[in-house]
Amino acid sequence: MSPLLELREVRRSYGSPPVTACDGVSLSVDQGEFVAIVGPSGSGKSTLLNLIGTLDRPDSGAVIIEGMDVSALGDAELSGVRASLIGFVFQQFHLSPGVTALDNVADGLLYRGVPRAKRREKAREALEKVGLGHRIEHRPHQMSGGERQRVAIARALVGSPALLLADEPTGNLDSRSGEAIVSLLRELNDSGTTIIVITHDNDLAASLPRQVMIRDGKVVSDSASEVSQ
Ligand code: ADP
Repeated sequence: MSPLLELREVRRSYGSPPVTACDGVSLSVDQGEFVAIVGPSGSGKSTLLNLIGTLDRPDSGAVIIEGMDVSALGDAELSGVRASLIGFVFQQFHLSPGVTALDNVADGLLYRGVPRAKRREKAREALEKVGLGHRIEHRPHQMSGGERQRVAIARALVGSPALLLADEPTGNLDSRSGEAIVSLLRELNDSGTTIIVITHDNDLAASLPRQVMIRDGKVVSDSASEVSQ
């Protein structure tokens, strides 16, 4: 079976003189995996996640998702691929202020051509799945950080993406809310969602099935390849 995600010698640098943020990364992730990306601040973790999530393009190398080389797609095609294949969760939640949880989640389907009533029906289901069925009319400022992150996860998942990408999803939460978010991610993974998460939390990373360590834009260790060697 071919991997869900494959990076081949991906490189990306920024600025002048160039800073190499991603320095020839090759990585393969199968359907159903739960992968932690770890490494010091500035090592290139967010750059890598943005490249995987098609928010950024590599200077060279290939990003292949479900067999499709997304690095070769034009902007319009890329938006379509992103909307159907990838869900994002960020440390800062990125919810629309003043908009109910239901509509924040429903907006996750805006670019999928789903009619409004159907978007809201699916959003309600997604909110129930993350344990927020009782908060659908709440606005972000009426919710705790943990609840806001659940809304963000529901929004990321409402379109049933192949891949959930999370950049420090517990970074803004107290430890108890953070643990609850990690439990939720585990449940989602148990029910088949492939997840790649950036974390500074060593305990969290160690508790996940696979750890990929990045330093200076390179993969310096990958627990999956250590096992198979
Ligand atoms: P991490 O997520 O591990 O903290 P980043 O991927 O954010 O690391 O950054 C890796 C390196 O690339 C850093 O040196 C950072 O300053 C640089 N970098 C990242 N994004 C940009 C950008 N958009 N413009 C310029 N430099 C960037």
